[in-house]
Amino acid sequence: MFEEKDTTRTPVSALGEFQLIDHLTQYVKIHHESTVKGIGDDAAVVAPTKKEQWVVTTDLLVEGVHFDLSYMPLKHLGYKAVMVNLSDVYAMNAEAKQLTVSIAASNRFPVEALEELYAGILAAANGYKVDIVGGDTTASTAGLLISITAMGTAPKDKITYRGGAKENDLLVVTGDLGAAYLGLQVLEREKQVFQVNPKAQPDLEPYSYLIERQLKPEARKDIPQLLKSLEVLPTAMIDISDGLSSEILHLCKHSETGCNVYEDKIPLDPQVMATCEEFELDSTTIALNGGEDYELLFTIDTDDFPKIKGNPNFTIIGHMTAASEGNHLITRAQTKIPLIARGWDGIQEDETSS
Ligand code: ADP
Ligand code: MG
Repeated sequence: MFEEKDTTRTPVSALGEFQLIDHLTQYVKIHHESTVKGIGDDAAVVAPTKKEQWVVTTDLLVEGVHFDLSYMPLKHLGYKAVMVNLSDVYAMNAEAKQLTVSIAASNRFPVEALEELYAGILAAANGYKVDIVGGDTTASTAGLLISITAMGTAPKDKITYRGGAKENDLLVVTGDLGAAYLGLQVLEREKQVFQVNPKAQPDLEPYSYLIERQLKPEARKDIPQLLKSLEVLPTAMIDISDGLSSEILHLCKHSETGCNVYEDKIPLDPQVMATCEEFELDSTTIALNGGEDYELLFTIDTDDFPKIKGNPNFTIIGHMTAASEGNHLITRAQTKIPLIARGWDGIQEDETSS
């Protein structure tokens, strides 16, 4: 892709806006017939078919608010910015097809830094077969901002909303939870160690999975495909970006149900359990409130249970109840406590909010 130029720092002003756009987008590939016109005109042209609907989602990432470049390499940031959006498309049970990419960067960022960022964006778009069809590139007075919009399609009757769950539906989660949050804790700890002793050579091997989940999350493109092949249409679905409990509560609110979630069913990676012990954190709290896992959470009719039973991609963590029963966590000690969303700022605090 872009040539290696480790030490060069070309100011963006040396290229100018139009040349910079051409330079950054020179390796963009088109994968979908529905992309009629990509980069290069006043607007992109995409073509829906009669049976399909489009889903559109956008996310804005702001330096210092959503990412910290002292431990997030720019290439990873570009990759993650795409994943965050694709995850929202897959959470609608749709196939992601097009992206637009808008970047605002201060003069702290030379062309080479923007190349790195764009290399991550391109790697994600090509790896997930999504077409970059446009965007905007501009200067900023305050650091780096990235806004990505993703578009996808699905047959009208397959699009899955947050509001379709019914009483007795099973609550299912993909993958495992809590690792991305712990990855961030490990990186923040290493940053502090590094500030005290720049020669420190941390052994991050015991945390490799956690760091990968934080720096290089993968959206679950495979899940809508797998559900289709299993002939399972979820009744409701959402992606896990803020934390499991917050997403469960969204499904319950939109579906007008309650829920019972079983603590002992929540899927945890062994590295999550070991690191929680080391950091003296409660692994259930981390899994429920950690955030940034980008797994999918969905509900299915009990009739579909045999189709997903035993599938290693899925864990049944509970079921929906009547709204009047409320939202509950059944602990390992068989105590029923209210399920609340604390979000990840509140993890180490006693104060709760939902
Ligand atoms: P306009 O003046 O119509 O906004 P621009 O000069 O900003 O056009 O952009 C020219 C073309 O390049 C458009 O097709 C636009 O969508 C695309 N583009 C601009 N910035 C980016 C970017 N960061 N990534 C992808 N495409 C971009
Ligand atoms: Mg523009």
